[in-house]
Amino acid sequence: MNNREHPILYIVIPCYNEEAVLPITAPLFLGKIRDLAAAGKVSPDSRVLFVNDGSKDTTWQIICDLAASDPHYIGISQSRNRGHQNAVLAGLMEAKDRCDITISIDCDGQDDINAMDAMVDAYRDGCEIVYGVRSSRATDTFFKRFTAESFYKLLNAMGAEVVYNHADYRLMSARALQEFAKFKEVNLYLRGMVPLVGFKSTCVAYERHERIAGESHYPLSKMLSLAFDGITSLSVKPIRLITGFGCLVALVSFIGVIWAVIQAVLGNTVSGWASTTSIVCFVSGVQLICLGVIGEYIGKIYMESKHRPRYIISDRTWDTETSNIKEEH
Ligand code: UDP
Ligand code: MG
Repeated sequence: MNNREHPILYIVIPCYNEEAVLPITAPLFLGKIRDLAAAGKVSPDSRVLFVNDGSKDTTWQIICDLAASDPHYIGISQSRNRGHQNAVLAGLMEAKDRCDITISIDCDGQDDINAMDAMVDAYRDGCEIVYGVRSSRATDTFFKRFTAESFYKLLNAMGAEVVYNHADYRLMSARALQEFAKFKEVNLYLRGMVPLVGFKSTCVAYERHERIAGESHYPLSKMLSLAFDGITSLSVKPIRLITGFGCLVALVSFIGVIWAVIQAVLGNTVSGWASTTSIVCFVSGVQLICLGVIGEYIGKIYMESKHRPRYIISDRTWDTETSNIKEEH
């Protein structure tokens, strides 16, 4: 599908244990679709698609109730918690054959939904992908801002090109998604993979607010693991750096050996047990880190070689045979 005038929009929203926030934000998304449809920018057949990521609370029940209350709300449920990236992917893949455009957004009200107008306008102007980019990080703590900004710099230095200050709030057309569906990797890092699809794209700036309710699921440990995944999923530069570093260490040791031989010939006894030991320990540590990085890549190859499914949908709020909303859940 590729309707530029009145595209069918699916807003794809991953939800994990969001019972506190969903009843507040769901009507905002629906309101946005109504506004866009009233302005003639999107089709009235647009939908809000929730992806329940194996929540342990009543999130799925809330989604089912929403679906029963208004046909614009629909939902799918993953068979278990697989993480934000897989949830977004499941939603996008579910939506791609039913709509003209998708906008993925978190359900916690942090991303300004009013940026959707500009995103849809950009699509109507011919863009296939529109990245939502934070205009400022004023609402973040200094620590979060510092770590997040260092993260983008590190990613770019390591050869994983990502759009600066863009998380997963973005518009993708069905055409871009059809191409994206051919990226079969199981190590998902969407914000790094989407730019690889290409096509005409642009950025739209928006303000990021505080979470409306509930708690973040991205503590520092998860952020670090996402950063590491991002780098190792998109680039082999760290391995090259290790090779370069290995060459450097070899060169320095070679010079050291020559120096030691000269000293021995001159008859100077080698003193300094402590310094020798510390160098040995340091180099062993570096070697272990290097092995760890290489091991990470091998682990990724192992995961990719299994070709496991990236998401498993266990439930939908509609009947797949008739497309009708289910009466009972
Ligand atoms: N999320 C998810 N699965 C998870 C963790 C989070 O689907 O395992 C969803 C969550 O419901 C939210 C979005 O991903 O809509 C972003 O999560 P969160 O707001 O906790 O992260 P932050 O905005 O603090 O980075
Ligand atoms: Mg959030």
